[in-house]
Amino acid sequence: MALNLIPTLEATMLAIKISGLHKTFNNSKRALRHIDLAVQHGEMVALIGASGSGKSTLIRHIGGLVAGDTGDIDVLGNAMQSGGRIDRHARRVRANVSVIFQQFNLVERSSVMTNVLTGYLGQIDGLRGTFGLFSRDEKQAAMRALARVGIAGTATQRASTLSGGQQQRAAIARALVQGSEIILADEPIASLDPASSKRVMETLQEINQTDKKTVVVSLHQVDYAMRYCPRTVALREGEIVYDGPSAALNSAMLRDLYGADCDELLSENAEPAIKNIRPLSTPQLDAPIKAATA
Ligand code: ADP
Ligand code: MG
Repeated sequence: MALNLIPTLEATMLAIKISGLHKTFNNSKRALRHIDLAVQHGEMVALIGASGSGKSTLIRHIGGLVAGDTGDIDVLGNAMQSGGRIDRHARRVRANVSVIFQQFNLVERSSVMTNVLTGYLGQIDGLRGTFGLFSRDEKQAAMRALARVGIAGTATQRASTLSGGQQQRAAIARALVQGSEIILADEPIASLDPASSKRVMETLQEINQTDKKTVVVSLHQVDYAMRYCPRTVALREGEIVYDGPSAALNSAMLRDLYGADCDELLSENAEPAIKNIRPLSTPQLDAPIKAATA
């Protein structure tokens, strides 16, 4: 069967479509429970939830790194997995998805430039990639990506010499070079200070707005979701308990959804204006796509 990577009408509309996804680890409690989720092309969506709520597991499923027990995941109109099996064409679907991790996942002993150039490895032939033979155009594009994320001056440095925030921006530059339509970022700011967190979130936002890339970013704390992402999907114990406008979130609702875990979602370092999320004047949500108290 030929793989359709030419954008069809549906592909241009839906970047990610998940239906009926369940995941259990070691036959113990469910890590993900009946997840249904549709993300439009060009959206910037926050995935929030306390630790253990399933954020990383969901991101790994979308990225085609883990198979669910049941359920289907389509990415840009192509099956990434279905019925608990990774699709046999998933490798090619994955080429359109970049995953950014909390711990940056750079090769620390290599230069920043080399790390960014590895974004090309899915696109060029194996031998050329193995020997690191990148073209001048590729190197120039890598430099442009580094300039865009604001760390062009670090190109020749070893990745290990960069600060956490700079390493995360190098990882974003690598994703830019990869040229994928979808960026999945799993708690990209969890180990960063507030100033670096702001830079990283601004960089993701700029890529979303300028390049219209779809961004799904998991965040431990809700204030960043409210500031940078128009839409928030909230997970609790593997279930989606809220999916709707970030602006409609408020502390009363979070308390309702998360109980005592709520405090974990309100960051200590948040600027006061965001930290003190005020209840909306109206008790009703504006336009929740889904709101439930599980
Ligand atoms: P989050 O990213 O929101 O902190 P995770 O997706 O990491 O949550 O975890 C969700 C649940 O699945 C947790 O109960 C966690 O212990 C479990 N889990 C995640 N990965 C594994 C794994 N590889 N093996 C066993 N259990 C796992
Ligand atoms: Mg996680």
